Amino acid sequence: MTGDRQGQPQEPEVFSLPERIGRLYFRIALPMVGGSLLVGAVGASANSQRVIVALTGMTVVGALLHLLLPARWHDVVRRAFPVMAIAFVLTVALLSGVGGLPGDSLLLSVVLLLAPGTVLAWSLLFMDDARMGRLVGLGLTASATLLVWRWQQAGLQPALAGTTPLLLLVVCLTVVSYGAAFTEINRRYLDGEQAQRQDPLTGLLNRRAFDEHTRRAHPPGTALAVLDIDHFKRVNDTHGHTAGDRVLRGVADVMLDVLAGRGQVYRWGGEEFALLLPSGGADLSAEAAGLLEQIRAEVARRTFTGGQRVTLSAGLSTVQPGEAVQAAFERADAALREAKAGGRDRVVSRLHPGPPGLPS
Ligand code: GH3
Ligand code: MG
Ligand code: MG
Repeated sequence: MTGDRQGQPQEPEVFSLPERIGRLYFRIALPMVGGSLLVGAVGASANSQRVIVALTGMTVVGALLHLLLPARWHDVVRRAFPVMAIAFVLTVALLSGVGGLPGDSLLLSVVLLLAPGTVLAWSLLFMDDARMGRLVGLGLTASATLLVWRWQQAGLQPALAGTTPLLLLVVCLTVVSYGAAFTEINRRYLDGEQAQRQDPLTGLLNRRAFDEHTRRAHPPGTALAVLDIDHFKRVNDTHGHTAGDRVLRGVADVMLDVLAGRGQVYRWGGEEFALLLPSGGADLSAEAAGLLEQIRAEVARRTFTGGQRVTLSAGLSTVQPGEAVQAAFERADAALREAKAGGRDRVVSRLHPGPPGLPS
């Protein structure tokens, strides 16, 4: 049941952990790495200088893309950059070897120093996507190992040559396993974040999520409804609280079925629910009134597990230009009281501000 509820549309997190790590990585770590590479290139062989300048160029491109592109492109940069880096190391590896681009101790130390750090940084960058994190980590490990092996063949420093590839492999795999641990920690953190906003009985979003979502600005036309099961206390008093709980879950199912992902449903309190239909600027009052009427009719028609029959009342409002969501919510709540006073099992709309009784 919980899985269905998680399918409700969620508003994107503004500053997710991967986005924060991405900012640190692309805007601070990469320029620092580029700068230190350039310092290291001073006085190096022409061969080392060419590779280092190309590597620096790539870090600058990554940093600039992240800085200049709007946030919605950051995920693309985050995914494309490791692929570019692996392609770069593979290209150097293929150009290296006997008769080709020879490695030297400077380039070797660059690989040795940068590879584990890069793997660790990427594991953090892909905390939310363990598969991608492992793939890029292993991709870099494999390409760097190939590169060092090719240099070894081309007659690199004998003192390092024997154990270097193995050492590199061990260090990189250790870092990948750290990355896996970070990923697990992040998954638990995200699960906890989600649990805090979910009602355990019905699996719907809870009051905390409702308060958070309604604190944000919503454009005029956004529809807001409050729904309350009629005489619910009688269900508990007659059939017991377990039967009452089943009815609550059943009513939640009806709301989700009717909405079919078109809005968000919250368990606002005990037997009270709220419904938010975010608008792109259009007036959603007619659509919302139709959906509420469908929910009301379906609840009234249905016999819940255990034989209980219930009805519900609902109040509907829409956000008016220049108005906070809270004002619309209070109108919807007043409309609900009107529905109760008018005999229950009905939907009352109070779309505009004004004294009760006036047509809305
Ligand atoms: P009205 O038509 O005026 O809304 O009457 P009502 O009986 O629905 O309203 P009232 O506020 O008197 O009672 C609400 C009941 O909802 C009381 C409370 O025991 C019950 N309730 C609240 N949360 C839960 C829950 O999680 N499970 C169960 N089984 N009952 C709950
Ligand atoms: Mg109530
Ligand atoms: Mg009630």
